[in-house]
Amino acid sequence: MNIHTKAVHAGDRKKQGDHIPVTTPIYTASSFVYEDIETTDKVFAHEVEGYAYARYDNPTNHALEELCTALESGHGSLACATGMAALEMALRTALIDRRKKVVAANALYGATMNLLTKVMEPFGVETTFVDICDFEKVAAVIAEEKPGAVLMETISNPLLRVGPLDRIANLTKESGAALIVDNTFATPMLIRPLELGANLVVHSLTKYLAGHGDVMGGVIVSDEGHFEALRTLSRTYGPALGPFEAYLSMRGIKTFPLRMERQCRNAIAVAAFLRHHPRVSKVNFLDDPEHPDAVTLQRLLPNGLHGAMISFELKDAGREEIFAFMNGLKMIVKATSLGDVHSMMLYPAMSSHRDLAPKQRERLGISDSLVRLSVGIEDSADICADLNQAL
Ligand SMILES: *Cc1c(COP(=O)(O)O)cnc(C)c1O
Repeated sequence: MNIHTKAVHAGDRKKQGDHIPVTTPIYTASSFVYEDIETTDKVFAHEVEGYAYARYDNPTNHALEELCTALESGHGSLACATGMAALEMALRTALIDRRKKVVAANALYGATMNLLTKVMEPFGVETTFVDICDFEKVAAVIAEEKPGAVLMETISNPLLRVGPLDRIANLTKESGAALIVDNTFATPMLIRPLELGANLVVHSLTKYLAGHGDVMGGVIVSDEGHFEALRTLSRTYGPALGPFEAYLSMRGIKTFPLRMERQCRNAIAVAAFLRHHPRVSKVNFLDDPEHPDAVTLQRLLPNGLHGAMISFELKDAGREEIFAFMNGLKMIVKATSLGDVHSMMLYPAMSSHRDLAPKQRERLGISDSLVRLSVGIEDSADICADLNQAL
């Protein structure tokens, strides 16, 4: 089935007694009972399907999880309170029976970097960082470090680099490491990492999937081999998403493919506008035939969708000029986060990459003249007009 169809059908319309609700209601019950205690016993023992306690599972979350599983072509999912909770659960699931060692992309979402260096490392899990777009290097580091897990993002933030996910999946399969992919930026509209051999896919639901800037959530979509461990760990660890958030996320996802299609189309127009603007010195966007990962992009993203994230540099600009430009924006929302229906702009040096030393930012290629734009569903001419009057 096409992703547009899955988005509006998967997970919903489970029979309830004599009727079928058209959309899944919000179940706030913290526990569930059955007519007789024998059935409750069997539910606890996983001998019959059912719900026992909301930390383990609840029908609203279950519907959302089925939907995410369908979108990502997975075996099963776990909805978590945030994207970060989902990332932590994915790492724990991957490492529970493997060597406590991670190889990770050196360009990752800031909090993910902190999760690895400030949470996992003090608990004995070391990470080696590598340029995930340099396949030979990745292969050498995996051979050398023998990691239990490899962690990467499909599209890096904010420079929009794309690593050879399919080839890396072949490496991890051979080495026995689990491949965890944060697919928040690309979404299953552009790429479905499980189909390419990844083991666990993570999303911040907060971004494109929910898409309306009104809910926090995360999800892990798992292959068959890791699903049991994921659910078992989560029953104890307790990162479950609340049912209200599950409902909002599911409501958002129904229009996610429509929104994403439009956002991708808008982004092509906005990137073209920026490339022709005399104040803009550099535009990072995936439709660029001279993109440093063009070969990978042609192989992995052949369907004409290039995502809806753009980053660009202003000529000879520093913090002061960037602040003046951003203050001049009248419509584009100057806030952190991304993937919402409205366009949003962020200054990485001030927000997502604030904690890095200026030298380290420079080494990652994140200059003080770089801004990141998440293109929304507005009319692209209005987005360009707002940028134009502020530039
Ligand atoms: C936002 C984001 C996260 C974290 O998700 P939260 O829902 O904020 O916890 C992780 N990875 C990427 C790529 C993100 O953009």
